[in-house]
Amino acid sequence: MKALSSIIALTFSLNLWAQTQDYLLLSHDPAFLERNASYTKTVIRKGRTYVVTLNQAFETLPLELQKNLEPIKTHEIINQETFFSFASQDADPRIAELTKLVKPENIRESIGLYSNLEKRATNVLDTKKNSGNKLTMDMLSLEFRAQGLEVSSQCYRKRKFDDECNIIGIKRSLNPAAKNYIMVAHLDSVGWDKAAADDNASGLAGLIEVARITKNLSFDNNIIYVAVNGEETGFNGSTAYVADLKRNGRLNDVLGVLVMDMIAYNKKGNILNLETNNEFLDYVEWVGIQAKLYTNLTPKIITPAWGSDHVPFLKEKVPTFLLIENWEASNPCYHKSCDTLANIDANYAAEMIKLNLAVTLQKAGLSL
Ligand SMILES: [Zn+2]
Repeated sequence: MKALSSIIALTFSLNLWAQTQDYLLLSHDPAFLERNASYTKTVIRKGRTYVVTLNQAFETLPLELQKNLEPIKTHEIINQETFFSFASQDADPRIAELTKLVKPENIRESIGLYSNLEKRATNVLDTKKNSGNKLTMDMLSLEFRAQGLEVSSQCYRKRKFDDECNIIGIKRSLNPAAKNYIMVAHLDSVGWDKAAADDNASGLAGLIEVARITKNLSFDNNIIYVAVNGEETGFNGSTAYVADLKRNGRLNDVLGVLVMDMIAYNKKGNILNLETNNEFLDYVEWVGIQAKLYTNLTPKIITPAWGSDHVPFLKEKVPTFLLIENWEASNPCYHKSCDTLANIDANYAAEMIKLNLAVTLQKAGLSL
């Protein structure tokens, strides 16, 4: 009898453990959340950190929910303002001068241009020639060329009418020992006509603005601008790009990666989120310090990484962070047809881009 009761006790505690396992939700898409709300109970909901427990066994959940749940220990999560305990640094006057060249009107113009196209989702490559996605790829190639970059496309998937490709622009250093600093933004959308201004024409505007300002500067390292495709369908472009780096033994040549995804909606207090995994906290703390030195933004550090193109890089242990707007007062038009230029704060986006410029100037080694 005794043995039996301890088996019962053990079974009970295992069940209890199973029921109280916490999961990080890996999608905050509003329609997804609505479809799956009844299967989970909220444990923490604070901006990017959305932790749930399950109301029923994992195996019985809808597949799309299973795929977007990551078991997590809540004490390993970070969601707070930067510590700034270890460093005091002065602003470099030359970098400060260069950040003044970031112009809100340029950002507004770029966002207007790309968000005025037809659907930029990747599936439109199957519906007709010269779809919104294809036009975006072509326009970015021209834009990168105009900024003096060496342009190529990495096509990783055949589509019915046009291939699905990443557009890559390299600003090459004359230094024979140059390594690479990489800046990423996704060019596709979830697929509304004339929308996706914040998600992610804003990131594209960031790539273009930094490339414009650094056009006539020289660096010790290469700067690689990657407009990745297929983010909304599962980081397909960034995954293909990382796989290519790995295949060619070039992962070790990467000094760091910066990803911009949704950098232009600002409801409350100029807050930005810097997201990475715990092993790269030093990197994002340093980025947070740059935000204090060169912008009017208040940085918040978030771990672990989920939901954007930083994930495939981090999986390969490449130092990477995501720069994203304040997720605690997030864009009500996220993944909706109302994500248009009207909701954009170009001055805020300009501050985000100043930060990226300051980071890039230092990481890529601006020549004196
Ligand atoms: Zn996005």
